[in-house]
Amino acid sequence: MSKTALITGGSRGIGAACAAALAEDGYRVVINYLRSEPEALALADRLGGIAVRADVSDPEEVSRMFEACGEIEVLVCNAGIARFGLLTDGADADWQQVLDINLGGVIRCCRAAIPGMVRRRSGRIILISSVWGRLGASCEAVYAASKAALHGLALSLSKELGPSGITVNCVAPGVIDTDMNASLTPETLNELKCCTPLGRIGRPEDVAALVRFLASDQASFITGQIIGVDGGFTG
Ligand code: NAP
Repeated sequence: MSKTALITGGSRGIGAACAAALAEDGYRVVINYLRSEPEALALADRLGGIAVRADVSDPEEVSRMFEACGEIEVLVCNAGIARFGLLTDGADADWQQVLDINLGGVIRCCRAAIPGMVRRRSGRIILISSVWGRLGASCEAVYAASKAALHGLALSLSKELGPSGITVNCVAPGVIDTDMNASLTPETLNELKCCTPLGRIGRPEDVAALVRFLASDQASFITGQIIGVDGGFTG
């Protein structure tokens, strides 16, 4: 029987590319979504998986999602949001929401997935962080902080779960062509391209290729790593 891979925020962008790559490798994919129901259902249909609606910032919805999934072999924590603005702007609820989804959602999903993985002494946890979690980013301080926290989480969990045969790694993308960057002006995108040694913006498939490798048997001795997919931006 196929092993199951759960991809949070799998309805669009990087998550959808990860779902497609893991399905190609024979995983039964569970595509988590929040608002993009038609996209999630169509993707699940195309990949032979299932789509499950859950807000990763809601503990009960996360519990129900894991009940619907069965045993998870690969957990890709990808769901995330970005908020632009000075730290002193906006309401408390704005930064709390970023932390609740980008960090809280990951912690909730890991807590739900880990007991089954420990029981089976097998599992892969892959957290999608960001280049900004490594470098910091003006006007994205809380977003960057939420992603930097994932690095600490992955490093810690790799130590906690290594003895149980579970690997935990972070994939830190650079600027990737998805809806998340739809509001960037052509000038900003050009500037970002110019700061990227490989001279282009990344594609969701660039990130998915690494996720697929980390989920594969070839990556069984790789854990506790933060690996960039950023065209050399952090190099
Ligand atoms: P995207 O195109 O905006 O897609 C975001 C995904 O997250 C969607 O599938 C969305 O689901 C889901 N999502 C958002 N809030 C959710 C919630 N509360 N519960 C469940 N799902 C939720 O973004 P993306 O660019 O693919 O980004 C994916 C991940 O990569 C994020 O963690 C992001 O921070 C990270 N990343 C992106 C870039 C980049 O340049 N794009 C760079 C570095 C890191 P619905 O559409 O169904 O609501």
